[in-house]
Amino acid sequence: MLKLFKQFVSKLKNICFSITCCNCGKIVDTEGLCLECWKKIKWISDPKCRICGAPFEIDVDALCFQCIKKKPHFDQAISVFEYDNFSKGIILKFKHRDVTHICRQLVAWLWRASQDIIKDYDIIVPVPIHFLKRLKRKYNQSELLAKKLETLSGITYEPRILRKEKQTQQQEGLSRNARLKNVKGSFGINPKYANLLRDKNVILVDDVLTTGATANECSRNLKKYGAKKVTILTIARVSV
Ligand SMILES: [Zn+2]
Ligand SMILES: [Zn+2]
Repeated sequence: MLKLFKQFVSKLKNICFSITCCNCGKIVDTEGLCLECWKKIKWISDPKCRICGAPFEIDVDALCFQCIKKKPHFDQAISVFEYDNFSKGIILKFKHRDVTHICRQLVAWLWRASQDIIKDYDIIVPVPIHFLKRLKRKYNQSELLAKKLETLSGITYEPRILRKEKQTQQQEGLSRNARLKNVKGSFGINPKYANLLRDKNVILVDDVLTTGATANECSRNLKKYGAKKVTILTIARVSV
């Protein structure tokens, strides 16, 4: 009887405290993804564009066509994996539910992807959302990531500097040029905290880098108020 009870308690423990795959929910031994999901993710590694991080097919240390055509305002963009039909599931899960569990893992990946450079940075700034959108959604996922990254890196999290001042149309479905136009002038710097930017190196955190229009507009503002270097850190990046 005691043995049966012990077995029951052990099973219950497994159910309550089991670690699950961030994507498919299968029980795993260590936090992250199960082997099948791990294999399907397109992890970003070298060779890639020195500025925007676009993966290259051949081993060259160079800039991509877009960065040569128009150098972005940010100095570098680092992403963990490519955004495709498979990895989209993880991002959507993070956006809509299961926030705490997924967030912990995503930040662990962000930390790993940036740990060679992050020590040279002074502040971590999340890409802000308009306050009306925040009211509706209740939280900003970039803030969650940035705040947790502060805990891992020891670098100050500063959400007050950058503001989304104008509500914009959803970027999804817009062309590259339309996206640039859509975000132009929609971000601003809070004058109360502008002095915190002078000569600082900034890590700007977002969930997905699409055309880089948002990242670029935020970086333009940060640099206008004295930021020395801006690096974009995102979970996923859309390949161009
Ligand atoms: Zn899985
Ligand atoms: Zn590039």
